[in-house]
Amino acid sequence: MFASRAPAPPTGKGGKFSVEELYGFTKKPKVTRGHCGKADKADGRKDAKEKEESVLAFHILEAAKRVMERRRLEIYMRECDVTMEDSCMPYRYLGKTGLKVSCLGLGTWVTFGSQISDEMAESVMTLAYDNGVNLFDTAEVYASGRAETTLGNILEKKDWRRSSYVVTTKIYWGGQAETERGLSRKHIIEGLRGSLARLKLDYVDIVFANRSDVNSPMEEVVRAMTFVINQGMAMYWGTSRWNAVEIMEAYSIARQFNLVPPVCEQAEYHYFQRDKVELHLPELYHKIGIGTMTWSPLACGMLTGKYNSGVPQSSRAAIKVQRPKTTIIIICCHGDQRCIMHVQGHGWLKERLYSDEAKQQLSKVKELHLLADRLGCTPAQLAIAWCLRSEGISSVLLGVSNTEQLMENLSSIQVLSQLSPALIAEMDTLLGNKPRKPKKEEKN
Ligand code: NDP
Repeated sequence: MFASRAPAPPTGKGGKFSVEELYGFTKKPKVTRGHCGKADKADGRKDAKEKEESVLAFHILEAAKRVMERRRLEIYMRECDVTMEDSCMPYRYLGKTGLKVSCLGLGTWVTFGSQISDEMAESVMTLAYDNGVNLFDTAEVYASGRAETTLGNILEKKDWRRSSYVVTTKIYWGGQAETERGLSRKHIIEGLRGSLARLKLDYVDIVFANRSDVNSPMEEVVRAMTFVINQGMAMYWGTSRWNAVEIMEAYSIARQFNLVPPVCEQAEYHYFQRDKVELHLPELYHKIGIGTMTWSPLACGMLTGKYNSGVPQSSRAAIKVQRPKTTIIIICCHGDQRCIMHVQGHGWLKERLYSDEAKQQLSKVKELHLLADRLGCTPAQLAIAWCLRSEGISSVLLGVSNTEQLMENLSSIQVLSQLSPALIAEMDTLLGNKPRKPKKEEKN
């Protein structure tokens, strides 16, 4: 550790090192000398010597401080199981809060408690944490609660310091009963209690309202979110798939009644879903400090190119759920307004991949692959780095079904520096969907 930063080894002869060599500075400090008669000269020499010594003492003290600081940091990093070289994960503030989250987070939708084994989920999470990911996202509805259970079991087993990671969950669809859905005060409080029990945690860092609820008054929602925060069940609350007007309403009500406002919106963001994140959320960030956490950076895998010539057997779009006698509720959150679809597995994704719109998108994906080749990265890395380029985005939530995908996707951080304005402009031309603000009407 610190090998690259350590000072060059001392070069003293016979195993003895000078103070300067030992503490890593090679030149003796320069001192200005006086210029009078003999006595003055002697005094001058004495003064100069004293000055030299005091400057030397100052340097030694400073160097010793640096060594101690380095030692302290080294011990701290070791306690955290992180080495300086290992962690190159950038952290960003969540909106205008003081909370720093890794710019890549790990999501659990489709994968945890369902598509992948618990062993694979543990490997993925461990690798993510070891690579600096400190944000884990889930929801009460994911795999009917099993995603939270899996996440909770792993966190319990790992015994990582609770203060070193952020867990977010989402409330809206908790069960089949009328009272187990929506954003009533009852469901927000009971739903979050259920999530905490499955996660085996005392609190989540952020609780999200998983969609807006036209049937629950906004004041009830904001009061319930404030209550769970005041009770210590959550640190912050956020919104998911809310529009700008709804977020603004929640904020205004919170300000009006001295309640806790939302801090973050979870929004879909990738090459083919841009308007909200690029046009509307930046304004909310500047006006009321709302942060953005984005999801589905690969459009469920489509941007990797894996669906360019059909649906591979082992992909998300091919997942079938083998429970013939039960109705399977899948939350469909891509593009259209339908939120709950009663389908087998992820048939909606397969269906969507065969649509005319998807065919056009896939042809653009192929062109983007050529661009990724030119940069020497994979299409997935380019797509994720493209999401990360916006400073307004606090974190991009990844979904992966194995550790190879995770490692590939985490390396998108290195691609970020290659995304020059010229390249982004080239991508915009290729995509042909750069959102533009409507021109303001001119005042007469
Ligand atoms: P992506 O769009 O990135 O899709 C992830 C899927 O793509 C993986 O499960 C995998 O599926 C495939 N994939 C990922 N990386 C690669 C790769 N390198 N090569 C090939 N295939 C790859 O993200 P998600 O749709 O999963 O969303 C991420 C997270 O965002 C979710 O887990 C969830 O936490 C959150 N989210 C929030 C929502 C909300 O409403 N607030 C809605 C949706 C998600 P496979 O291998 O099976 O093909």
